[in-house]
Amino acid sequence: MSVSLDLGRLGRRVLGGAMLAALLAPLWLKSPAVQAQQKERAVNLYSSRHYSSDQGLYDTFTRQTGIKVNQIQAGDEALLERLKSEGKASPADVILLADAARLWKAQNEGLLQPANSTLLRAAIPQEFQADQLWFGLTTRARLIVFDPAKLRAEQIQRYEDLANPAFKGKVCTRSGTHPYMLSLLASIIAHQGEQKAEAWAKGVVANLARTPRGGDTDQIKGVISGECAVALTNSYYLVRLLKSPKADERESAARLGVIWPNQTSSGTHINISGGGIARYAPHPEEARRFLEFLASPAAQAQLANSNNEWPVVRNVPIHNPELSRLGQFKAEKLSVSDLGKYQPAAARIIDRAGWR
Ligand code: FE
Repeated sequence: MSVSLDLGRLGRRVLGGAMLAALLAPLWLKSPAVQAQQKERAVNLYSSRHYSSDQGLYDTFTRQTGIKVNQIQAGDEALLERLKSEGKASPADVILLADAARLWKAQNEGLLQPANSTLLRAAIPQEFQADQLWFGLTTRARLIVFDPAKLRAEQIQRYEDLANPAFKGKVCTRSGTHPYMLSLLASIIAHQGEQKAEAWAKGVVANLARTPRGGDTDQIKGVISGECAVALTNSYYLVRLLKSPKADERESAARLGVIWPNQTSSGTHINISGGGIARYAPHPEEARRFLEFLASPAAQAQLANSNNEWPVVRNVPIHNPELSRLGQFKAEKLSVSDLGKYQPAAARIIDRAGWR
């Protein structure tokens, strides 16, 4: 894969000439100037968190520590491929991914190194971290939203209900191959086994109102427009619409029915965004400080408030009325590493179900 192609696909935000130079130059061509720049107090961040509000947080980190944050944004898969192809020459220090299974994959492919941080080990609950290699930073729930004019809440209390033949032509989801869907399916495998998970996937596909397209927001908007009666979405996309600057979006989102699925069984599916230190990080010390900063109560609250997620660190107060208004719920009890463990099986099921 050529570097220029990569940059074209990746570069939504590429900061810092030093990083750009480092990315473009093969190892043996790095000039002394580039090498010196690489040693400046900086952390090179590969992030698939696609939320513009994060930048403010990185600016705070730079103000507090003097460490510059050079960020490249791309999808999880593209970042992992890039890390693999760069190998030891990779300028990446910190990898932030928006899905537990992808973090698990980064771990399994040897792309991370231990953070050796007592602070991270203590601050982040056990079920949201793995062997000092990666750490959850925020949690999000996978919700059911529905049109109350078409369905009653009692009919769709569980993920399982989306496969009920009574809802043929009524369900909207994004592609089953997306990490958010694969991790949901991995969770269903963990709770119910592969056979039931496959029957569920096939049942949902049979109920789809349209060929899967777009992201979670598009599924919510599909319910609003009447194209579908019920859809799956991560919690923060719904809250984002509830806080939209556009009054019509706020009002139509507020009219939706919202279900915390599986409250009387396994609990609502939870995923994380999180990060770890790249195996060949040129600035491992700065990388560790950056992750520790993101786990600090102030950063945790800011992540939660600005992108409408929940902190992983316990007892961090958040001030997000629209998020809080969704209420309390029972979350699934699952180590997020399991989402990775069952991912290959989930991918096979998605394939067999034709959930593209
Ligand atoms: Fe997202």
